[in-house]
Amino acid sequence: MFDPETTEQGDLREGRPPWRKAGATPDFRSPARNLRCDVLVVGAGISGALMADHLTARGHQVCVIEREQAGFGSTLASTAMLLWEIDRRLGFLTERFGFERAANIYSHSLRSVAGLAALVRDRGLDCALRARPSLYLAAGDIGAAELRHELALRQRAGLPGVFLDHAALRRDWGIEREAALLSPGAAEADPLLLAQGVLHAAAQGGATFFKAEAVRYESLGRRAGVVLASGHEIEAGAVVLATGYVLPDIVTSNLHNTGASWAVATPPQPPSSLWRDRALIWEASENYLYARTTSEGRIIIGGEDEDGMGKREDRAACAPAKAAALIAKLAALYSRAEARAETIWSGAFGTTQDGLPLIGEVPGHPRIFAAYGYGGNGITFSYMASRLVARMIAGEREAWYDDVAIDRAAP
Ligand SMILES: Cc1cc2nc3c(=O)[nH]c(=O)nc-3n(C[C@H](O)[C@H](O)[C@H](O)COP(=O)(O)OP(=O)(O)OC[C@H]3O[C@@H](n4cnc5c(N)ncnc54)[C@H](O)[C@@H]3O)c2cc1C
Repeated sequence: MFDPETTEQGDLREGRPPWRKAGATPDFRSPARNLRCDVLVVGAGISGALMADHLTARGHQVCVIEREQAGFGSTLASTAMLLWEIDRRLGFLTERFGFERAANIYSHSLRSVAGLAALVRDRGLDCALRARPSLYLAAGDIGAAELRHELALRQRAGLPGVFLDHAALRRDWGIEREAALLSPGAAEADPLLLAQGVLHAAAQGGATFFKAEAVRYESLGRRAGVVLASGHEIEAGAVVLATGYVLPDIVTSNLHNTGASWAVATPPQPPSSLWRDRALIWEASENYLYARTTSEGRIIIGGEDEDGMGKREDRAACAPAKAAALIAKLAALYSRAEARAETIWSGAFGTTQDGLPLIGEVPGHPRIFAAYGYGGNGITFSYMASRLVARMIAGEREAWYDDVAIDRAAP
């Protein structure tokens, strides 16, 4: 859980991402009695927000419960690079699933970013959403040959992108790397404004919001129930779990891990110091570095991921060392900017071994659905999950849902 507490460590502010202060959020009241609704969404981060908005738009009577502050989980810590490229390359997923299935998942991911951008436009949300290309850099064992192979697979799958060699990267981008793939179709946003804007849209559509903690889940034949810490109960036609990296006991997966990531923001830079097209930059390695710019012209650079580290105080203790490491990596990656950290923050998030989310009905718990394990594509997969779960609640099924099933086998 991200904690918005901040501390000063010399010139470095620890704990607060550079996102804009909250806009209007729906009113979260404590429930005073037992409740019934069509769909209960547990958790009001970006996943719960997108679920609530979409299910409301489909005509369901939706309740959302949140035990802390809406949007202040992993969502606030997010650097909100809305990538359609998945943490695992198409080549990796092709080995795991075969080309057709892997290409299908990549295409759904591409459509999810486009769908999210269209939603922001349709709802008129002010969340600093901008279309950006992504620059996927060679790193570690993944060099120019591997990126050419990846691009060939992507092209076969009908996905966009071009190859950049070392000379082009140095000349046009000021970046010293062996090669990169440059792809259109990504975007950036302010994650807090995005989540709160989507929650607000759901409220306007008729969703209702409660400050409450779910402590027990029950399947009741064709309905499901949730017991709250207050002792009240909510019965619903379906329950959707969107509690971020915190998996309740009923959801087990041998693919899921919890990781933590750190990010720093520099002071605002003059436009001439920012890289071309203000692309979203990330690396072709497992614990990759990622970077973007903000509407104020700051550079955000993140990474230095570690397994576990769910506790904020453990992460805070590492902050100065993580800030120094990230700034050194920024200076090595791109020398035209002022490489100085003004603020550092961290957050925990769920990941999976194969880089794909865990979306679907919880095995053994009919009418309880879950959306977890998002990794670096968190927000793209949150959008995908909202569309899939809505169809699953309606009883619709497509073969590829098995590729993201909660009980799929480990690679
Ligand atoms: C440093 C960092 C950088 C990241 N960068 C990116 C990025 O660039 N792009 C990207 O797409 N993704 C990124 N991610 C991942 C992304 O932030 C997450 O995948 C996403 O925010 C998850 O949203 P969520 O709504 O599922 O979870 P959360 O935002 O954590 O929301 C879950 C909510 O559920 C509530 N909750 C939990 N249990 C209960 C309960 N029992 N009862 C009631 N409420 C409960 C919590 O209080 C919380 O508010 C990053 C993550 C981190 C930490």
